[in-house]
Amino acid sequence: MQFSEFSEICGQLEKISGRLDTIDMIASHLPGLDDEELPIFIRFLMGRIFPDWSQDKIGIGPNLVFESVAYVAGNDRSKVVREINKQGDVGTAVENILSKKEQTSFFSENPDLRDVYSDFAYLSSIEGNRSQKEKLKVIRKLFANAGGAEGKYLSRLILGELRIGIGEGNIRDAIAKAFDVPTESVEHAYQAANDLGEIAVIAKKGVDELRAVRISLFRPVKMMLAKQGTIAEMVEEQGAIAAEYKYDGTRFQFHKSGDKCRIYSRKLEEVTTAIPDIVDILVKTTGHDVILDGEVIAVDGNGNPMPFQHVLKRFRRKHDIASHIENIRLVPNIFDILYLDGETLIDKPFEERRKILVENVSLHVAPQIVSDDIITIEAFYREALDAGHEGIMIKSLKSAYTPGQRVRQWIKIKPSVDTIDLAVVGAEWGEGKRAHLFGSFILACQDESGRLLRISKVATGFSDEALAGVYDLLKDTEISESGKVVSFEPEVVFEVGYAEIQKSTNYEAGYALRFPRFIRFRDDKGIDEIETISSIEDRFRAQSEKIR
Ligand code: ATP
Repeated sequence: MQFSEFSEICGQLEKISGRLDTIDMIASHLPGLDDEELPIFIRFLMGRIFPDWSQDKIGIGPNLVFESVAYVAGNDRSKVVREINKQGDVGTAVENILSKKEQTSFFSENPDLRDVYSDFAYLSSIEGNRSQKEKLKVIRKLFANAGGAEGKYLSRLILGELRIGIGEGNIRDAIAKAFDVPTESVEHAYQAANDLGEIAVIAKKGVDELRAVRISLFRPVKMMLAKQGTIAEMVEEQGAIAAEYKYDGTRFQFHKSGDKCRIYSRKLEEVTTAIPDIVDILVKTTGHDVILDGEVIAVDGNGNPMPFQHVLKRFRRKHDIASHIENIRLVPNIFDILYLDGETLIDKPFEERRKILVENVSLHVAPQIVSDDIITIEAFYREALDAGHEGIMIKSLKSAYTPGQRVRQWIKIKPSVDTIDLAVVGAEWGEGKRAHLFGSFILACQDESGRLLRISKVATGFSDEALAGVYDLLKDTEISESGKVVSFEPEVVFEVGYAEIQKSTNYEAGYALRFPRFIRFRDDKGIDEIETISSIEDRFRAQSEKIR
């Protein structure tokens, strides 16, 4: 498939609003693609380039895109930036600029999906001193071969934000439809393989092949997540349940095969070299080949838990790791096992996985109680809080491990604080002594297909150190500036507290936060994990019921 045809399909999909029509249209294109194009097409449609488990990144920021577009259009960079400021969207601005170029130059190549993908793969492999120059060369070539529409989607793909509203659910259903296999089998295989591109190729072969898909070592799977609820509800529904401390740290997934081991963060980034102390501890917990799931916490000299930010600092660290190991001591708490010596365990009920965990891993297994008595579990909850943990997790004993799903089989119980995770999409410059930093931030939630909707601004709750830290994180993601307002590629997630959610016409989401205040960065979370509009509606409804 030519990249120009792919761009046309994106344009058509952008205009369709119904879910079923979207799925039909995607499904109609899948059978015609060969085994090499199919995974690329699927990932590109979701705005992704590499499999979800992969560590490859093309590492191109807005600046390189602007420079390349300016170069091939024969403009200077400031003209490109002016167009972006005018449009408020990089894709549309690039489309306008490159469609003017189309009339004056001839294209020698019309790249297909494979060509574009192999340029992306090459970009991800470029390292070292000459890397910026070499990357610029590749990006210029890509834009030189692009007309307006191709430029629009190419720039968005490069910046990691295709914005045509195609989520995993659409793709899963389209694969099932195109190859006439059950949606559940596609979903199940996807949870284990963590790449819908590859799953499409397997689905083409048939349902038996899909059912045979298993977890593989060193391909991290998405983390299972929890919902909110109450102890009473869970006991009523399930009878006996498991309860564990809810550790306020950072999630990890540990893979070990013989002497080789790797550790991944919640965003599935490999962090083995950042936390060698944790790797050392985990290696000693078992002689088996395993995939373990758990939470790392930071502890003080007395072994008491320290705030979450200390752990994140360690996960982020690239240099000077040894001295930070001394300053911040980390401890793992293992609470699940997904794989043991060649066998995938995710379909087994939790009580069986727990038994396997305890039998095969000797240290650092998170303590657990099993009870059907509300009073016993409440006492365990108070004990968790007294020991300085965030609360407890209660888990259904019968439940499978469902990667990437936020399900009622895991319920988090913690003191009620109304906080919400939102993407930072813009900022305004500060004033007075903070004039060189951003002072207030524009925040967005997402709709079901991942489109971002503005919902609030936040300007309070920041220490000077936090503001300087946010500035460092955001400055490289700037895409445009108009007046005092700067827009960013959404990459940074804030956890924000609020007093109330109100209906509002001031923001695209239709809601606004009353008294928003910054709580902390959530750089363990990706943009796809921010609050959805439907859960904001749930929060709004629950709040109105409380008032009544
Ligand atoms: P929160 O914002 O409340 O920390 P979250 O959005 O990060 O939650 P949730 O799914 O709501 O994620 O809560 C589950 C998280 O709690 C897990 O991702 C994990 O990091 C953490 N956690 C701590 N202790 C446990 C435990 N014993 N079992 C499972 N998860 C745990």
